[in-house]
Amino acid sequence: MSAPRQPGGQLRAADAGRSVLLKGWVARRRDLGELIFLTVRDRSGFVQVVFDRARCPGEAVDAAAEARSEDVVEIEGQVLLRAEGQRNRDLPTGDVEVLASRLTFLARSDTPPFVVEDRTNATEELRLEYRYLDLRRPILQKNFVLRDEIAFRVRKTLHERGFLEVETPMLTRSTPEGARDFLVPSRVHRGQWYALPQSPQLFKQILMMSGFERYFQIARCFRDEDLRADRQFEFTQIDLEMSFPTEDDVFDTVEAFLVEAFAAAGITAARPFPRLTFRDAMERYGTDRPDLRYDLPLCDLTPAAGGTGFAPFEKALGSAGGTVRGLRVPGGAALSRKRLDELTEKAREHGAGGLLWFKRQGAEVTSPAKKALSPEQLDRILAAGSVADGDLLLSVADREKAAFAALAALRAEAARDLKLVDEGRYAFCWVTEFPLLGWDEDAKAWFPMNHPFTGPREEDLVRLESDPGSVRARAYDVVVNGWELGSGSIRIHRADLQERVFRVLGIGEAEGRERFGFLLEALRYGAPPHGGIALGLDRICAIAAGAPSLRDVIAFPKTTSGIDLMTKAPASVFPEQLRELGLEPPAPRER
Ligand code: ASP
Repeated sequence: MSAPRQPGGQLRAADAGRSVLLKGWVARRRDLGELIFLTVRDRSGFVQVVFDRARCPGEAVDAAAEARSEDVVEIEGQVLLRAEGQRNRDLPTGDVEVLASRLTFLARSDTPPFVVEDRTNATEELRLEYRYLDLRRPILQKNFVLRDEIAFRVRKTLHERGFLEVETPMLTRSTPEGARDFLVPSRVHRGQWYALPQSPQLFKQILMMSGFERYFQIARCFRDEDLRADRQFEFTQIDLEMSFPTEDDVFDTVEAFLVEAFAAAGITAARPFPRLTFRDAMERYGTDRPDLRYDLPLCDLTPAAGGTGFAPFEKALGSAGGTVRGLRVPGGAALSRKRLDELTEKAREHGAGGLLWFKRQGAEVTSPAKKALSPEQLDRILAAGSVADGDLLLSVADREKAAFAALAALRAEAARDLKLVDEGRYAFCWVTEFPLLGWDEDAKAWFPMNHPFTGPREEDLVRLESDPGSVRARAYDVVVNGWELGSGSIRIHRADLQERVFRVLGIGEAEGRERFGFLLEALRYGAPPHGGIALGLDRICAIAAGAPSLRDVIAFPKTTSGIDLMTKAPASVFPEQLRELGLEPPAPRER
């Protein structure tokens, strides 16, 4: 029997003198004639192999002369300590090299379309087309080792806490996360369709009604959404549900596995995560996913701006939901006109009509609004913004939504300008008490901010019909550094309340029964109070790995236009396949 295979990347000085059998890929060849160096790569790393005419069998050196990048080789040899001056400090195996006695090709490689190296200038399109080569790059392999470790730790933590991993169907009914479904036609039941799950939401609630008490799943979810830069049609959630929980039980569970998961990447998360209500998050940071690595709070300039007669203030405050909000940028008076123009542009991108600024430098105040305001009015505004010497006050007078969105974006810009962002810090938090419902101006209807099974807060229930917009939900998000990692809620567990919420949402009795009949039915047979959450595993892995894109932690991702460049999906199918499903082949597209 031959010797067991040795992972080359693990060889160290202490291995000197050992005979080893390496199997891996040729990463590099340096040919000096009598002396050939091959760098051999396997999952464990790189090791240098030496083929020396003076010391190695001639066939081995001849074979090495033939070796090309990405050939798969089997090498026998002996580990030698490198001479002092020859050690490579950049390589974990740099103290040693393997003197080869045999080289066998297990597979040859064509010239690859790009060099398999961490630093590459291959375009992402090319890398995704040849994903198998791309994935050989250590920088990506590292991400998948981390992803595996994170998923393992999550599973372990949940298993130890009594959560059962239960699989739920992929072929199911349309589920209500508010995105478009991917539909699958039924061959057997002509004209009927399955939907791929947007989440296991209804199944996990049903599992609570089945008495499972604690469920989790690392679940694939599908949403046919317009793909923004960093979204995928299919993604993975850490999905869980508990019976008889309070918010604290859910938070404790999630914090426990997030601490473990991030520790896998050497990241420390301090527990308990701070909590803030949706309203406080909006007032203070303008967003429901605040970056708490720095404070830089917004301020309310509405009282100071009221009654000034200044047109932009009057216009905002005269319309429903209008407000005047500000952001003090400490030391920001030094900002150039050009930078202020950029910030104005940024505010506009986020829906604000414009941006007003005030600078205080010594006794001097400059602002485009200065002439339109009396010195007292100006003072009141600067005082409301706590503007000190050298500060800049940015202000947006608009509807609340636009004002908050614009100032949240400017807050992030300012933090970068002021170098307030500690890149090594991971500031987790919970955002609670989201509104239950939002108003869709176009449809003139209420829609669920999360999904229609989210429980309202008991004390707000009296206003469910009279003032739906004021009802707060028992919903929460977990956020880190400005990223939403997950959201969930304590659910409705009574059929009468579920039907009441459906009515407010304009889901009639017939529609409710048609779409969610099984849930309403199940709620009638003793449904325990329950609640849960789902977190994006891809996002968690990308943040923990410091990866710039979700595509770096998904083995076979799709492009931003939803194409798998390697398999070339989506693709056309044979007309017979369509006919079998009762579908007509589409007419060819006109060119
Ligand atoms: N199903 C929800 C989602 O995917 C999460 C939850 O409420 O548990 O966003």
